[in-house]
Amino acid sequence: MALRPSTPEVRLERMTGQDVAEGGFDKAILPIGATEYHGPHLPYGTDTIGAEALAEGIARELGQTIVLPTLDYGVSFHHIEFPWTVSLRPETLTMMVRDIIESVMAHGIRKIAILTAHDGNPPPAESAARSLYQDHGIEIAMIGGWQGAARKALAGTWDIDLDHAGQSEMSLVLYGAPEMARIDLAVNQPNQGMGHPVSIVGSFKGTVPKGYSGKAADGSEEEGEAIVKAIAALVVPFLRDLDAHDWKRGSWLSGIDS
Ligand SMILES: [Zn+2]
Repeated sequence: MALRPSTPEVRLERMTGQDVAEGGFDKAILPIGATEYHGPHLPYGTDTIGAEALAEGIARELGQTIVLPTLDYGVSFHHIEFPWTVSLRPETLTMMVRDIIESVMAHGIRKIAILTAHDGNPPPAESAARSLYQDHGIEIAMIGGWQGAARKALAGTWDIDLDHAGQSEMSLVLYGAPEMARIDLAVNQPNQGMGHPVSIVGSFKGTVPKGYSGKAADGSEEEGEAIVKAIAALVVPFLRDLDAHDWKRGSWLSGIDS
């Protein structure tokens, strides 16, 4: 049995009713991951582990914030040609996010953020947020683009890549769930060249035949920790300010430039 962590627990599924009552939580973050092939060296839950680690980092720093159970399925049809990738339809994810947020709202929580750590998820998550605003007037903070944001924030210290199953994802798994990373099997691959203004909606295999890219062998736990801290440092002041304004700032105000 795992020991209770020394830092206060913030993940809902690991707390009792008493823990939650004592925590005085008034905010929630929903992390969304994926079940997707990440080569021989990283687990299928890489994006889920990353989403949870980033959400926990933010929640601990922000305070009074619960991390809802991380969704471990996402929209991954563009990776379906790779073995054991499991995908939701975009509309299924939209409906799941809607149901989860409406459940949380039933308990009086209206300060809600959604954190996506996989490229197929932001559009359906945003779709849910837009319809929730339309129906309930609730303003949801959308957190995404962690690789681009960390790359910018850590420039000069760490060279954060934008790859799938590359260096930065290896680092996040080494930080969040080290027992699942097979760095011994990581072989550095050419960079897939993300970050261009044009992206193609289709099969990932067409761009990256092996299904993974980047310098995974160069990942490290230290880089993973730096990524989590950098994202928290960007997101938390923004959310604190939002909190000070009763979680209402209007659309288009962005805390992350990715
Ligand atoms: Zn990934």
